[in-house]
Amino acid sequence: MSAAQEEMACQVCLAPLNTLGIPPTYLHPAHLATDGHDPAPAPVSQLDTVRRSCDFCGNPYPTWTLHGGEVTALAVGPTAGLIQNFGHAWAACPTCHTHIDDGRHDKLAEHAARTLGLSNHPQARQRVEELHRAFLDARLPGRALITTTAWPATTITAAEVPKVRDRLSSFYRGNDQLPAALEITSTRAEIATGLDRSHLYWVDNDFTELAEHAAAQLPDTPISRDALPSTDGLLIWARPLTPNQLTAASWTATNTGLRLVLYRTIGAGLEPRPLQRLREQVGWLTPMYATRLGEREPIGKNHPAAGLLATWLLINQKAAEVATARPDKGLAKSYARTNRPTPEVRVVRIRGRHLPSAARPSTPNGAQRSQSSRFWVSGHWRNQAHGPRRSLRRPVYIHPFLKGPDDAPISLSTTVRMLSSGQPKPQDRE
Ligand SMILES: [Zn+2]
Ligand SMILES: [Zn+2]
Repeated sequence: MSAAQEEMACQVCLAPLNTLGIPPTYLHPAHLATDGHDPAPAPVSQLDTVRRSCDFCGNPYPTWTLHGGEVTALAVGPTAGLIQNFGHAWAACPTCHTHIDDGRHDKLAEHAARTLGLSNHPQARQRVEELHRAFLDARLPGRALITTTAWPATTITAAEVPKVRDRLSSFYRGNDQLPAALEITSTRAEIATGLDRSHLYWVDNDFTELAEHAAAQLPDTPISRDALPSTDGLLIWARPLTPNQLTAASWTATNTGLRLVLYRTIGAGLEPRPLQRLREQVGWLTPMYATRLGEREPIGKNHPAAGLLATWLLINQKAAEVATARPDKGLAKSYARTNRPTPEVRVVRIRGRHLPSAARPSTPNGAQRSQSSRFWVSGHWRNQAHGPRRSLRRPVYIHPFLKGPDDAPISLSTTVRMLSSGQPKPQDRE
């Protein structure tokens, strides 16, 4: 595909743009309500998030690109222009895709008519069905995962991490395509093998918040092998990191550098059946950014992997307490059946945060209690010497403070001193 033909989306509202004429002009879709801004076109391959909707039913969380018959400019019902130029590549949400998978075109049309608000217009419903058929009758095999949809967050617990990893590696080994823009098509097998060897990390809420604050100030820091907590890893944060809703990262160290993939979660809010199908076919995570980093290539606060590097550095500087979660019995059995060792999940949390109640400092009553959230008062990074003859420099995050209702404001360093032998309580293990 030539550059001129590449699909464009607006950088302001992230909506895919319609293309008209040669040389092309780009327009917001007619049905889209904007604040009146001019379209700011950018190639879709350069955006990690695109506000696409399902071409079958209008749902805002499409998952698959399907290829089929060319369908152009059809109007539906009294509202002419509702459905426009679709082309031969359609986006499908998990619900529509499940109906298509099952060969239930009737259910697909019924679902789409309901979602589009056309249930009471039998004629319109019939038009929708014809439109779908025009596309599906010429459908080509295969499908590509849409990785640019901004799903609401799905919470992944520490106990779920091995299952999430297994799904992800089988997705990489499967036949479903990934967008060429991610540039990992030729290295999927390598990434899957790295995932199989991975140490698994789950980062709790407080540590995620600390890492997020630290990432926002991260100085340009070269990545070296000793920064990695393990050669291969999958790390999942308890909640997504702003601004890109990054929830997980995988890495594998190769001869040609560090292969890094960042992920977001998918599937939140789906009905049980399409959700189960999505979990089987894709899993919990979709890649949103992939790169290969050379040895000592710097990452700063604006790099997509800043949150990951900040998390690694904080783990390395002993801000973390890493406990191994006990796997649940069902999981242990299912691994035993296939002669695989039971995976361990390393739970990462802030050192000394889990005080036995007797050691907890007394909390002043009153005003502080009424705060509804805890928050970090940011620390700062300082370069510290390390390595042979202390010749290397590595940033260390100094003096973050946690404020909020659980505790009077406590500096992290004070807490560490109080609890130098602090062990996680047994009930904290999952
Ligand atoms: Zn726009
Ligand atoms: Zn749909």
